[in-house]
Amino acid sequence: SQLSSYLKSMIRSLPDHPIPGVTFRDITTLMDDPTGFARVIDGMAEPFLEQGITKVAAIEARGFMVGGALAYRLGTGFVPVRKKGKLPYKTVSMSYELEYGTDELEIHVDAAQAGDRILLVDDLIATGGTAVAAIQLFRSVGAEIIASSFIIDLVDLGGAEKVRAAGVDVYTLLQY
Ligand code: IMP
Repeated sequence: SQLSSYLKSMIRSLPDHPIPGVTFRDITTLMDDPTGFARVIDGMAEPFLEQGITKVAAIEARGFMVGGALAYRLGTGFVPVRKKGKLPYKTVSMSYELEYGTDELEIHVDAAQAGDRILLVDDLIATGGTAVAAIQLFRSVGAEIIASSFIIDLVDLGGAEKVRAAGVDVYTLLQY
């Protein structure tokens, strides 16, 4: 569509970053454009305006760039999903596989409850490992993520399928 080619024209693609053979999609050049930023937030918010979302949860750190604005737009609270050791109060954590080794995500134990309708957001979905860990994290405190939304889907890596297999809807603005 016209919107997606417009938004794609503002994303900077870095070949062989951070390692040879990988093309890194840099959204900073999209977010520093006032119109680009507005279109991203409006586009991500649109399917959820009437869905009774109670919280937007976003994954550190690039997810925070969209998560705060989206929570404001939807009139919801905001929950940060952080890397291990960053949150000040009692946390629950979930480890997940990276290409080399593992990493760990955390939320505060009281960040969400049964009855919340949570929208999970991040800048980009690749293998889906990060998003699935976040989904499990909220389930571990009895809360349910009802959908997830990403600016970019790296389609060949299968992340959207993985998240859907975990029982959560996936929305993406741009596909590569
Ligand atoms: P996944 O867990 O494999 O789906 O990787 C997704 C996570 O890695 C997200 O938190 C992204 O911010 C980050 N990520 C992976 N590749 C890229 C990229 O090309 N651009 C920006 N972020 C990326």
